[in-house]
Amino acid sequence: MSPAGVYPPFVNGSMAQKVPKYYSQLAPFAPLFDAGLPILMYHKIGPRPFGARLKGLYLSASLFENQLKELSLAGYRTVPFSENLEQPQLNNRRIILTFDDGFLNVLEYALPLLQKYRFQAIQYVVADLIGKANAWDLKVGEKAEPLMSHEQIKEWLQSGNEIGSHSCTHPHLSRLSLRDAQEEISGSKKRLEDMFQISIAHFCFPYGDWNEPLRDIVREAGYSTAVTTEFGVNGPESNPLSLRRIMARYPSRSLKTFAEKLSF
Ligand SMILES: [Zn+2]
Repeated sequence: MSPAGVYPPFVNGSMAQKVPKYYSQLAPFAPLFDAGLPILMYHKIGPRPFGARLKGLYLSASLFENQLKELSLAGYRTVPFSENLEQPQLNNRRIILTFDDGFLNVLEYALPLLQKYRFQAIQYVVADLIGKANAWDLKVGEKAEPLMSHEQIKEWLQSGNEIGSHSCTHPHLSRLSLRDAQEEISGSKKRLEDMFQISIAHFCFPYGDWNEPLRDIVREAGYSTAVTTEFGVNGPESNPLSLRRIMARYPSRSLKTFAEKLSF
């Protein structure tokens, strides 16, 4: 099993050079996507409040729709997370859509679009903050955004989507004692399972902060997959407990500025 968890054509570098850092449209990513299973990472969908610090975590509903439409036209489909990993054939036009944190705006703005294009997705929720707000962000001056309540998460599940755990309180796990990290990892699984009466098999490392001891804890807790924020697609040799993802967002500022200049 390759510790890098990435399909070889990406590792050799020739393809990586042509790929932008963030996903905003399919064209530059198509060859990379054909080399493995891509997992896109989203956070907040909808209008961005004035003064938001991490602007890249917001994507407008119309740009989100553009991305879904393009994937749909190219023949991409989503199937539940577990199913994807059982048959990791390459070049099969499968993609996984993930949303970190469990924001209410995903239910409001992304769910109708996911349904329109017949896609399904997973939201990683913070077990102790259900129905509250992004407390971990407020500490660093970010705008408050509501997180889905118990009822809203049920609505998300009933529309054919999945949830996973994003810990109890969204800490940097590597800064905690292993004992506290274990409580965040396995305690959140148990709490979500009790709350929703479903099995919770998927974990997402807050801030993409992971290491091998943490990955061992995730395995021991009984999760079957975990996602990181490391860039790349996943192949048959990927470790399912440290999967790579590609951050999806609006086109980069430099490209946008360039396009704006051209239109003048
Ligand atoms: Zn997060």
